[in-house]
Amino acid sequence: MQVIYSDTHRKHHPSIQIFGGGEKVPSFESPERLDSIVTALKQTDWAELRSPEEFELEHILAVHAPDYVEYLQNAFNAWKTYKENLGETSQNSFVMSDTFPPRRSNRKPTSIVAQAGYYSFDLCCPIGADTYEIAVTSANCALTGAKILQTGEKSTFALCRPPGHHAGRDFAGGYCYLNNVAIAAKYLSNQGKVAILDIDYHAGNGTQDIFYSSSDVLTISIHADPALDYPYFVGYADETGEDAGQGYHHNFSLSLGTGDDEYFQSLEKALELVKKFMPKYFLISFGADIFQSDPLGSFSISSEGLLEIGTRISSLNLPTLIVMEGGYNVDTLGLNTCAMLSAFARRV
Ligand SMILES: [Zn+2]
Repeated sequence: MQVIYSDTHRKHHPSIQIFGGGEKVPSFESPERLDSIVTALKQTDWAELRSPEEFELEHILAVHAPDYVEYLQNAFNAWKTYKENLGETSQNSFVMSDTFPPRRSNRKPTSIVAQAGYYSFDLCCPIGADTYEIAVTSANCALTGAKILQTGEKSTFALCRPPGHHAGRDFAGGYCYLNNVAIAAKYLSNQGKVAILDIDYHAGNGTQDIFYSSSDVLTISIHADPALDYPYFVGYADETGEDAGQGYHHNFSLSLGTGDDEYFQSLEKALELVKKFMPKYFLISFGADIFQSDPLGSFSISSEGLLEIGTRISSLNLPTLIVMEGGYNVDTLGLNTCAMLSAFARRV
């Protein structure tokens, strides 16, 4: 199985994040996450690591608003200028907002601090000098995976960092800047129907936002009850799409503590929806944070459960691109990711 990966991701390394309760902690979304996965992949006999190709920006602009992409590209320099104009020589190397828009406000301020709030919904997406470039490279990993599927490969893995499924058409959040799986899905949708199944612990609110009015990309997310866990405001079962996309989005909201058997029941229902849709390409937003000891998740999925999830998804026998999303237990992340992927690697 080809694995698309760029070592440049480590240039994006926010040092801290503000955790629930106002605690300042080291960022859970760290380069060590991918070190864990790459180390485990290199010990298999099926993973072939390769670099991403370059793609035109038009593929990113096909799902993200131009003003948002321009903001991501220019934010760091605008922030530096803002600091210099204040006469400050702070070495703080990341743009972070301290202000978010009240509901119903569509005013876009000129202040870079306020724009950082305008274009994000939490404090998890600081922008450093290299963040834009690395986010584009991460998107290119997913696009390269999509291109590989078009050559007839049965499955491929885009080892993306930063992740993408919380990034919407014009907003960042949850460590996500560009929605890698959505960009790949849009790219593939020119050639036929595409289904995205998001199995990260957290609801794929960004992917939902991007395709909510679309009928050519079926989106399904299985995740923790958003009334109790991040991203809280989106991911409820009654959100089923709108306009042409009505009926083409499905949320499976599960209790905290969900174990293997309960999870498989929702997975089977989701896979039935995919079969009925008959997509040409199948994309998986994979988050290993469903694993029982993940610091940001509260499910009780075992390592054997992750293998079984991979086995059931791969049994659909569709051309499948797996895109890396979350997973924050760096001690188990590599082995668990390989367990899930091995089901596809063994597929004849
Ligand atoms: Zn997650």
